[in-house]
Amino acid sequence: MSQARLMDGTALARRIVERTAQRAAALTERTGTAPCLATVLVGEDPASVTYVRMKRNRCRTAGIASRQVALPAATTTEELVGTLRSLSQDPAVHGILLQHPMGGHIDERAAFEAIAPEKDVDGVTFASFATMSFGLPGFVSCTPGGIMRLLDEYGVDPAGRRAVVVGRSAILGRPAGMLLLARDATVTYCHSRTRELSAVLREADIVVAAIGRPRLIHGRDLKPGAVVIDAGYNPGNVGDVDFDSALERAGLITPVPGGVGPMTIAVLLEQTVDAAARQLGA
Ligand code: NAP
Repeated sequence: MSQARLMDGTALARRIVERTAQRAAALTERTGTAPCLATVLVGEDPASVTYVRMKRNRCRTAGIASRQVALPAATTTEELVGTLRSLSQDPAVHGILLQHPMGGHIDERAAFEAIAPEKDVDGVTFASFATMSFGLPGFVSCTPGGIMRLLDEYGVDPAGRRAVVVGRSAILGRPAGMLLLARDATVTYCHSRTRELSAVLREADIVVAAIGRPRLIHGRDLKPGAVVIDAGYNPGNVGDVDFDSALERAGLITPVPGGVGPMTIAVLLEQTVDAAARQLGA
């Protein structure tokens, strides 16, 4: 059997960021105000510090201003909520990114809900989840949004197809399934309590792996010709799908790295410019 075609997230993300940079420049020229993303980081977890720095660097290259808010690890939920509420009311800030996970003492949901929906460019609030689930205008979770863009780019129409999403986290699996449902796929969610995962996977036209377990899904678990989206990112640059065996069986597949990963920041930047355009009325 022939090998699967690769879905190149690096190239698509680059095109999205280029277009976003052009839109940001035009918006800045028209309004005299550059789009601005506030990044909020609690504590100094090295991975989170790196992620925030990466996002701010990408903002800069796309002509998006960023405002860095770094709070000490001992910040309370009330203090964090206060910071997010004031950013939500600040007209100079168009988008808010709260880096997570945060320290275990923080009520993450209370913090997310302090972000105004019109500035929720990372798609973490209940309001964003609801609009996304119903296919209404609003901001989507960035990684699932990136997955849908990849499907569109490669001509995969989810309508009427069987999609199996493995993983149900609030930021990834659950919204990915909702976006597929909004596009008329027949969606099944699998998770750690699912029985006979392989049997479920073998029915799938589209597989989204969002687990965080290296190479859990093997090529023999796939329906021949399936579209395989591997959102997993495990130590050693390894996905949740066993790439070599899946390549022999799938029709389309995302590599790790270079598949879903680069799409997340691209969607974040794009949504920040969308938010700024709406708030500036331009
Ligand atoms: P998470 O919150 O830990 O959720 C993992 C999900 O996988 C849970 O729903 C869990 O089920 C399920 N699961 C765990 N073991 C399983 C098993 N053996 N069989 C079936 N399901 C299983 O993780 P996450 O934040 O969604 O991230 C998942 C992966 O995506 C990670 O590798 C992460 O690094 C990656 N990721 C990538 C990006 C990107 O930009 N590319 C963004 C976010 C995350 P239960 O609900 O039953 O516990």
